[in-house]
Amino acid sequence: MMFSGIDGFFYVLFLAGGAIIGSFLNVCIVRMPRNESVVFPSSHCPRCQVAIRWFDNIPLVSFLVLRARCRACRQPIPWRYFLVELVMAGFSLWTYICFGLSWALVPALAFVAALLVASLVDIEWRIIPDEISVGGMWAGLVLSFVFPALHKGPAAGVLLTGASVAFILAAVCLALYFFRILRYKLALGDWDRNVLLLGVLFLVGQWAAYTLAPFLPLCQAGLFALADALQGAVTGACALWFTGLVGEIFISKRIVTEYDFKGVVDDPEGLLKSLARDGYVDAQGNLQPAFRAVKSAAGLSLPAGCEAKRAEIFEIIQSVDEGGVMGWGDIKLMAMAGAFLGWQMAGLAFFIAPFFGAAYGLVKIIRRQDTAIPYGPFLAIAFIACLYWGDLLLRRIMVLYGL
Ligand SMILES: [Zn+2]
Repeated sequence: MMFSGIDGFFYVLFLAGGAIIGSFLNVCIVRMPRNESVVFPSSHCPRCQVAIRWFDNIPLVSFLVLRARCRACRQPIPWRYFLVELVMAGFSLWTYICFGLSWALVPALAFVAALLVASLVDIEWRIIPDEISVGGMWAGLVLSFVFPALHKGPAAGVLLTGASVAFILAAVCLALYFFRILRYKLALGDWDRNVLLLGVLFLVGQWAAYTLAPFLPLCQAGLFALADALQGAVTGACALWFTGLVGEIFISKRIVTEYDFKGVVDDPEGLLKSLARDGYVDAQGNLQPAFRAVKSAAGLSLPAGCEAKRAEIFEIIQSVDEGGVMGWGDIKLMAMAGAFLGWQMAGLAFFIAPFFGAAYGLVKIIRRQDTAIPYGPFLAIAFIACLYWGDLLLRRIMVLYGL
């Protein structure tokens, strides 16, 4: 490749731009799981509360100048701040190298940024903020229509296959879901109703989009991409929901972990130990029949300091008891990725993510660390691999199977 001054200029521009985005992502990672605004107030030291001046807030540079310490209180600043800025700068440059100066850069960078926040919040809190997953899904649908380049103009055959795949997966999930409701005599919540409505809306929407596209030449590419995005959201979410439903029906491990109480009580570990002492769970966190004997929140015995959160704690354990092998956070993340990348990549990511997860899980088991690992980061790695190398991988697989 010829390297000219213009290239160098864009390299520096995308590196710097990525670092600035990374600096904002750091704010999201800290504030989103605490339900705080990511805009106000401006950045301040979490320990001494002193506002951070602009010259101490320059991405990458300030961290090195300050030698990882707050200027006011000299407390160390976590390395994560620097790493997120560095990683986002790297992704920004790599995305430019892969896609060139094209409109595909907008959705691609938004997608990578969202995955970075989702992964780091998931590692620390074992949740994925709805702003990222659900908000990201809507953003992915809109961006697909406005900047269709990431979907690479799906052919009619690809969209028709996608419609079938999304429809069949949704139907299978629905059947399993109602089977589970009847079997465990569960109630149909408001939330479930919304998911059902959204699924129907998306399936009708993708059909409308590719049916209307030939009649609207001006936004034809956008409508085809939107159809692919809607199919992707349904395919991604249902593929993971399917494995979760199978797990809940046939394996139904009901394990309470300290992460279930993080952000709810000050000492999640202490609460879990107390629950074990009272026989509600065993040492591994498996729910015991003693919990079933507790009829209401008032009957649950709790350690001191947890009284105020009694109802919430009871509800959390109850939701584990109703089965929760696959978190809704991961399912929503799959819907988001499908909206950005389309149904083929959502399917591909679904199949490659377990390999990353299994490799990491194996290392953890060998080192005898806790084996409850968040799945979000592995999905994120798979999605990023699909964003950059998905087409290549898909072609190889098609050749392998003679398609
Ligand atoms: Zn400070």
